[in-house]
Amino acid sequence: MHSRDARGHADWGSFASLRDNDRVTSATTPTTTTAVSQAWFERARAVTPGGVNSPVRAFTAVGGTPRFITSASGAWLTDADGNDYVDLICSWGPMLLGHAHPDVQAAVAGAVARGTSYGTPTEPEVELAEEIVARTPVERVRFVSSGTEATMSAIRLARGATGRDLVVKFAGCYHGHVDPLLAEAGSGVATLAVPGTSGVPATAAAETLVLPYNDREAVRAAFATHGPRIACLITEASPGNMGVVPPAPGFNAFLAETCRAHGALFISDEVMTGFRATAQGGWGLDGAVEGWTPDLMTFGKVMGGGFPAAAFGGRADLMAHLAPEGPVYQAGTLSGNPVATTAGLATLRLATAEVYAHLDATAHTIRAAVSEHLQVAGVPHVVQVAGTMFSVFFRDGAVRDFAEASRQDTAAYAAFFHSMLDQGVYLPPSAYEAWFVSAAHDDRAVQTIIDALPAAALAAATAGGY
Ligand SMILES: *Cc1c(COP(=O)(O)O)cnc(C)c1O
Repeated sequence: MHSRDARGHADWGSFASLRDNDRVTSATTPTTTTAVSQAWFERARAVTPGGVNSPVRAFTAVGGTPRFITSASGAWLTDADGNDYVDLICSWGPMLLGHAHPDVQAAVAGAVARGTSYGTPTEPEVELAEEIVARTPVERVRFVSSGTEATMSAIRLARGATGRDLVVKFAGCYHGHVDPLLAEAGSGVATLAVPGTSGVPATAAAETLVLPYNDREAVRAAFATHGPRIACLITEASPGNMGVVPPAPGFNAFLAETCRAHGALFISDEVMTGFRATAQGGWGLDGAVEGWTPDLMTFGKVMGGGFPAAAFGGRADLMAHLAPEGPVYQAGTLSGNPVATTAGLATLRLATAEVYAHLDATAHTIRAAVSEHLQVAGVPHVVQVAGTMFSVFFRDGAVRDFAEASRQDTAAYAAFFHSMLDQGVYLPPSAYEAWFVSAAHDDRAVQTIIDALPAAALAAATAGGY
């Protein structure tokens, strides 16, 4: 329905009038054509498990056909059938500046022209590390290629530095598909209701203590019982993988203090929140204000600028345990890749205070509109916020942990999701995910979202029987 031609930013008038017509019909007659995406999905399923290379992309929780995206620009995605969508996934976080930012594109093109990988130290690695050190409390950074590798390496380092084995994590926090971290891991694991430990050795799962989030008593009890054996506690700086469930005031400070008291390391996973929730990530919301620092941190998503780049970092004395300085081995053929680090560096340099102010204001406008329309339609919901990140739970009452996140009306969400999609708004295909905006979400993008809300709220109300 949003044809490639109708989208043209230069010709907003025709796009707007097209949208007005859509609104009349969209509640009853989805007009989006998906034949080309469907054909690709069939081909994909013949050669790839579930047709996708990361489970949450498969639409399993909401039904229907995942769209094959062929191009993206600013706040917009275009699929193989020529439909345009306002993107509220932003590649699950990375695209802070929006898609195909011209300055990032130019930096990447320049890097590619100089060759794509040398297996030697390069300049952009150093500059990106300096940028991360400047924005966060870490003193040393090691680059890897995915957030999973970052958390895996941080845990190995914590175990090597402490000489202990146990890892404490929270139910609903996702830290990548690392064996000891997959237990009750939120995100795709929660969306698909798969047991988080299939394929994970019992010995690895046994090294992991899983606690309810925001529960100080559970943390105290775990450390009282197992304290001398705990290498580290890992938590999302502000969880976004069970939907957005912020830490209660002082909770992260309490975790840092508890770890210190027991000689364990506090790992703050900022793969999602880093350079996204605020300029200083999730730490900017509490640690920077309260004056504490994690021992180790992990980063990914935004700092890769849309390329496979991630990092872990921390205090210099701890990071000195890593090879070649110390005995904890960790390596990667493409770690610190010059194209990826150039993209990340360009992205962070462009992520100015104005960008974060824009993200804040845009997220606020969208949140308010979603809430208003769901309320009008009588759909129970709660909107939760962490800096520029937010998500909408289809239930009454605040969500403080994974058990509460699980008690939401996923059928109502699926109906809401599909109505939005039919009207040209691409939300995460799961009720357990944060919604992401970018610097490129302008008035037109926001208006498209707002225009789609009445029909989507109605669809949710009908599906939920409200
Ligand atoms: C996305 C994510 C990861 C895993 O990163 P990948 O690059 O997908 O491996 C780890 N931790 C958190 C908090 C994440 O959101």
